Amino acid sequence: MKFVTAINCMDGRVQLPAIEWLKNKYNAEYIDMITEPGPIKILDEDKNLCLVESIKNRIDVSVNKHLSRVIAIIGHYDCAGNPVEKEVQIKQIENSIKKVSSWNFNADIIGLWIDENWEVSVLKF
Ligand SMILES: [Zn+2]
Repeated sequence: MKFVTAINCMDGRVQLPAIEWLKNKYNAEYIDMITEPGPIKILDEDKNLCLVESIKNRIDVSVNKHLSRVIAIIGHYDCAGNPVEKEVQIKQIENSIKKVSSWNFNADIIGLWIDENWEVSVLKF
């Protein structure tokens, strides 16, 4: 069994695009979905420590029990939980990657953007 981890919005429109893209890209069987409304806002702000800790605990299960070696941090178009411009979301994703990196999980961390056509692209930092 091969798992990959996704930190994604709870928005129903971005579930299958993220799952299908990650399964295809990493030849994974299962994607562990860690969802919140606008999780990149939560990680960027680092203010709601209860939620941040909850996200960390779920990554821990995915990486240390399911042996995921990739964590995708995802932002998307028209996010109701995080209604800011794409440019701001990309900065939030960059900061979220730094935050998750600081937890030293044994996994690569990537940033993804899901656009108005529900297509996934890789963000370069
Ligand atoms: Zn959203």
